[in-house]
Amino acid sequence: MISIEVLLANKAGFCYGVKRAIDMALTAAREKKGNIYTLGPLIHNPQVVQDLAKQGVKEIKNLDEAAGGSVIIRSHGVGPEIFQQAKEKGLEIIDATCPFVARAQRAAHEMAEQGMPVYILGDPGHPEVQGILGWTLGKGIVVENADELSRVDHPKVGVVAQTTQPLANYRKLVEALEKQGVEVDARNTICHATGERQRAALELAQKVDVMVVLGGKNSANTKKLARICQETGTPTYHVESAQELREEWFHGHKILGLTAGASTPDAIIEEVKRRMKELDQMTNGEEGMNEAMEVKSPQPGELVKGVVVQ
Ligand code: SF4
Repeated sequence: MISIEVLLANKAGFCYGVKRAIDMALTAAREKKGNIYTLGPLIHNPQVVQDLAKQGVKEIKNLDEAAGGSVIIRSHGVGPEIFQQAKEKGLEIIDATCPFVARAQRAAHEMAEQGMPVYILGDPGHPEVQGILGWTLGKGIVVENADELSRVDHPKVGVVAQTTQPLANYRKLVEALEKQGVEVDARNTICHATGERQRAALELAQKVDVMVVLGGKNSANTKKLARICQETGTPTYHVESAQELREEWFHGHKILGLTAGASTPDAIIEEVKRRMKELDQMTNGEEGMNEAMEVKSPQPGELVKGVVVQ
């Protein structure tokens, strides 16, 4: 039997902010009486959201759906108007805003209070960006990159970034603003967890035969991990669960890599790792013995075939 290895990226799965939010939700489910709501899915992982629902933590889309009890603010955070609405409705607030996101909100608020326009670098549709925008007293301007900048007509501007932004994107924006001759109060609010996971995924993808990226299909950080791995030329598959793994992906491969987005629990990572090993044994077991005897060399370009990122 050939020896098959499934290597896990050295930074993968739950980040600090997501783990903290789940712990807070589980504690609330255990200790609180009455309804417990989360405003939107607590994390981008359907299984975790279903498990929480079984424990009485119900997802709502807006506060009008809440009928008393407690509401958990997700790690993405929200603007002050949501806190106000929750208070008016008599809801208890469990604030699971990630401290790194809260730092960006505070920075944006502080700069807006000083009267300057605040550039928020990020995805305008992302709830974290919407939340930060809410703290800017109407002075926030969301841009996705430096190319979206127009002429600045203020002597001083502030900059914050969505916590998952690439550092290079942030630097380019700050430089572009400085080139316009304005004073820039730039606060680097990028969270290290994202960069560390991306670096670990890249490193691993460069040394394995196949990469599996585990995490919600609607999770921006997981999709980004998949893209980074794919760009190395290593066949990369984005899955949400062990059930989606296909035997043929592992045919002829001995070293498999696995990474997971920040919303993926350890138990699911372990299940996928086990299943990858099983499938690889099934597809390569006997053939591997022959290969070992023939001592086949890998063909040039073998790793770039069949790249699939869903
Ligand atoms: Fe917090 Fe960073 Fe995790 Fe976002 S990625 S929840 S900012 S630890």
